Amino acid sequence: MKDKIHPKMRLITVKCACGAEHKIWTTRENIRVDVCSNCHPFYKGDKSVLFVDTEGRVEKFRRKYGEDY
Ligand SMILES: [Zn+2]
Repeated sequence: MKDKIHPKMRLITVKCACGAEHKIWTTRENIRVDVCSNCHPFYKGDKSVLFVDTEGRVEKFRRKYGEDY
């Protein structure tokens, strides 16, 4: 048998810089990511998250220019 042709897949937990953990199947032993789907919602293309992000911008705008706008 030639085992090296088929690297062992294993389920590991990847820790993101934001603190989120993701379980993925991989052949590597350690994976560390700085951005994941949790702290970078744009990856998912989730419309609801994008909406929240838009609200945040409006909030910043109001703080900058006042509520009268
Ligand atoms: Zn993250």
